[in-house]
Amino acid sequence: MKSSHIPAFYDPGMSLDQEKWQGYTQTPAKPKLMMEYLERKNLMEYFRIKDDWPPYDRDDFYIAHTREMVDNFFDRGKTSRILNMQWSPEYAESVRYENASLYYAIRHAVLHPDEVCFSPSAAFHHANPTRGALFCAFSGQVIASMKVYNEFGACGAYIDLDGHYGNSIDNSRDFVPDIDRAISPVCGNINIMASHQKYLDELKANLEILKKEIMEDRVHYIVFCHGADSHEWDELASQLSTEEWVECSRIVYTFVRDLESSIGRQIPLILSLFGGYRRDDYNSVLSLHTTDLVTCLNILCGHNISYTTEVKPRTTKLKSDSVFPNLSNL
Ligand SMILES: [Zn+2]
Repeated sequence: MKSSHIPAFYDPGMSLDQEKWQGYTQTPAKPKLMMEYLERKNLMEYFRIKDDWPPYDRDDFYIAHTREMVDNFFDRGKTSRILNMQWSPEYAESVRYENASLYYAIRHAVLHPDEVCFSPSAAFHHANPTRGALFCAFSGQVIASMKVYNEFGACGAYIDLDGHYGNSIDNSRDFVPDIDRAISPVCGNINIMASHQKYLDELKANLEILKKEIMEDRVHYIVFCHGADSHEWDELASQLSTEEWVECSRIVYTFVRDLESSIGRQIPLILSLFGGYRRDDYNSVLSLHTTDLVTCLNILCGHNISYTTEVKPRTTKLKSDSVFPNLSNL
């Protein structure tokens, strides 16, 4: 059993105010919107805010990206067109905080495996070494895991249940030395490209592989990223009904609980948000993430919290083709 409270690695610097940018996605405001939603639902009593960590500096981004790309971003406000984000000094600053949040959450979980750590971050898994893409300015997973590997020798695995394939880790394999030691080459980037029951079956099959790697001490921590855009009413993806989406959370947390019980030790577990796109009702996105967090609190942290998922049917059209035009080429 995990500790009753979840440390949340949240600093207001992670978010842009919504009026500070123009663009399709609400992702730059997501950390703040998420924490405000939890507050509105009287759920903050189960979290402990951790804000005693600094943002990344320039050298951290060089870990997973070319100097040219990083310097263009921070010094010249130059981004790739496919990033789909309007650059501003405030946006650049928020990126430094958002990326650091994931690292400090993983670091804390490795040091305190009895505590599930929460990073309310989202925009990491589409960047590659030379460019940002699809709302993701940098490869946050790769940077965080390389730093944790360099510090502790720990190897991680990401369960990435976003609606889109997370290409950052795969695209960094040739660029980042030692990445295979920092993120498992066997099961370090679990993504499920299926729908409904087949999705659930493939998730379970992947967890069996992960189980073996953990039991044989080749994977030392798990980062679970339950993107809300794998939900069928999301604007940019659609794979799972509400019940199926929540079932994925149950499957993952039950997997962790049972595995910890069978091996007799705690497995560091970190939660991150990833995608979710509902311009008609952003509360649907926040409610799915909240359901995931409550499922974790109930299965792993000894609570019995009652929370009703509030997801409304989408009233806008699917936008995948126009917003994510080159996804298959990443
Ligand atoms: Zn996505």
